[in-house]
Amino acid sequence: MTRNLMRRDINYLPGIEVEEAVEIMRHCFFDDTEVETQEYAVSNVEEFQQRYHELLKYWRYERCLAELYAGSGNTVFKYYGRCEICNSIQALVVDYQSAERGDGPRHPNWRERLICPNCGCNNRQRFIAHIVFQNYQPGMRVLMHEQRTLIFQQLQKELPQLEGFEYMGEGFASGAYYDGVRYENPSKCSYENDEFDVVVSNDVLAHVPDYKGAFAEVLRILKKGGRFVFSVPFNANSMTTEIRALVKENAIEYIAEPWYHPNPVEGYPPMLVYQIFGWDILQQLKDCGFTNVYGKAYYGIKEGYLGYLPLYFEAQK
Ligand SMILES: [Zn+2]
Repeated sequence: MTRNLMRRDINYLPGIEVEEAVEIMRHCFFDDTEVETQEYAVSNVEEFQQRYHELLKYWRYERCLAELYAGSGNTVFKYYGRCEICNSIQALVVDYQSAERGDGPRHPNWRERLICPNCGCNNRQRFIAHIVFQNYQPGMRVLMHEQRTLIFQQLQKELPQLEGFEYMGEGFASGAYYDGVRYENPSKCSYENDEFDVVVSNDVLAHVPDYKGAFAEVLRILKKGGRFVFSVPFNANSMTTEIRALVKENAIEYIAEPWYHPNPVEGYPPMLVYQIFGWDILQQLKDCGFTNVYGKAYYGIKEGYLGYLPLYFEAQK
């Protein structure tokens, strides 16, 4: 692929703000329907790659945006987008926090930034809200595999009955409280059968050694027809889940270099990444008893769901 799509000779005219240039660029790239949030069902490497290439316009837009930001000499930017939580247009904040520094212009970490100044939620969290609202009807019971997060607290304002827990690793008792936090092991939880209409899990299952057991538990606690929506660290170019560590006879066997994420609850040890998921999880979910199992690629210009090309997953009991 050539890089000549990106102009190196943009002149920054005095009086033209970066934010205005972004607005003009949006109109050059997209018509009114293309700026709406789009979702595409994908179930394997080929379908993902096909979508990836069909939707390259979004990738190009994102690259131009990064170039425009980098060329402006500023370090903080406003991206005008609609926040699902606040239900209004907000000046979403983009900067270079947690960005990788490579060759060429710097690229913001789109997934973790684009922060709403009103509710404080980032791109990823605002999209979770989008998914929860999409699946929610009054009276439903919704469970999240998280409780201490900003997104949980923001969603709880809208859905007062929202339930959640934290998984701080193995070796605690499901249903018990530690430092005021309800603990559940997603693969051995204490909920009754058929309790929930929706279960939402965001980037937790990579840390659960028995992740197939966690799938089975979600199925068990969902009502018939209930939905499981989740995101995980995922290799969209791999059909198989990469097992990085296993638990054998109560000891951890490391297959790849140990890789840790911070514990969601302060004061607890970092969380080992046991696996990076691949497309085989769709079949594993079906084998477990789920139906309507999909990967969904999505993108949203108006809402600022950038970071080409994000994925989430859904399955139904
Ligand atoms: Zn907001």
